[in-house]
Amino acid sequence: MEFDLNKILRDNIKKLVPYSSARDEFKGDATVFLDANENSHGSPLPDSYNRYPDPLQWEVKKKLSKIKGVPPQNIFLGNGSDEAIDILFRAFCRPGIDNVIIPSPTYGMYEVSANINDVEIRKVSLTGDFQLNIEAISENISPLEGDREGATKLIFICSPNNPTANSFDREDIEIILNNFNGLVVIDEAYINFSKQKTFVNELTEYPNLVVLQTLSKAWGLAGLRVGMAFASEQIINVFNKVKPPYNINVVSQRLALEALNNIDQVNAWIKETVAEREQMVLALVQLPFVKKVYPSDANFILVRMNDARQVYDYLVKNGIIVRDRSKVMLCEGCLRITIGTKEENVVLLNSLKEIK
Ligand code: PMP
Repeated sequence: MEFDLNKILRDNIKKLVPYSSARDEFKGDATVFLDANENSHGSPLPDSYNRYPDPLQWEVKKKLSKIKGVPPQNIFLGNGSDEAIDILFRAFCRPGIDNVIIPSPTYGMYEVSANINDVEIRKVSLTGDFQLNIEAISENISPLEGDREGATKLIFICSPNNPTANSFDREDIEIILNNFNGLVVIDEAYINFSKQKTFVNELTEYPNLVVLQTLSKAWGLAGLRVGMAFASEQIINVFNKVKPPYNINVVSQRLALEALNNIDQVNAWIKETVAEREQMVLALVQLPFVKKVYPSDANFILVRMNDARQVYDYLVKNGIIVRDRSKVMLCEGCLRITIGTKEENVVLLNSLKEIK
């Protein structure tokens, strides 16, 4: 497999002269900043929000680099990992021409982003035990050669997968990485809860690898909107070229930096969530209307039951919201339940036990 970034990049992005912000152009020390049309007097808030943030978020990336063992220049930060997903489409997929492969069911934003960007989706069903169907994926790839009619540019691998909660077999992912000359996007939003190893340390091995992670799940920062993409420097440069200049605001950068000092707290939560998850699995299988509790490598569980919609409505009446996935392919009759605090999980279980 030969990978050449230039062969998969859209021509307009190749030729793009990116926006150059005032803070991109000036490097060094100064005391008077009259280069960015900001309000030099200050802001009406106690902190100084009158200045634009660092466009490339170096402080946050340096700290992340230490935690992840990935050099800062191999990291992109987005307004949630959803921003990274959208940029992948805009940079690599020609609207109305190219296509992407989405093993399904999976996280819904890949499809929505594809549709927004007018990119053909090739859904490939997972196997009955929610694993990747390598053969079917391979059959659906349109090669880059002779790509006038359109090529397969991206394959999305969400592992652990949302909503099925399982991780995919590592060997299967490696087969795809070794044989596909578009980008393999491994979404590891739930990796902290998994027994599987991350792929972030394989970037030098696979030039076609993009790993997505987020501060929204284990890190407890969904409200800040900070997502990460890890890839070769070449690919990260494409992300940086396409992103809006100041895509992570000052507050999010500052608070993310602060939060990243609290890794012990996060690890304690992960441990607790995983322990609670195992307890919940044991408790849920006892319920008479539960048909199957799928093994989980994430902070949620997929549960198949007799009348999922009825259970969902009943829980809503009791002020408990779970996710109804019963209309999703391969997930018929399933609810997706996030693992909460011990107290929340007890409330949920007590409520479920009352269903006759
Ligand atoms: N990937 C997966 C698999 C997700 O489930 C989600 C959110 N539910 C995201 C990405 C998006 O995360 P973010 O908050 O970083 O945009």
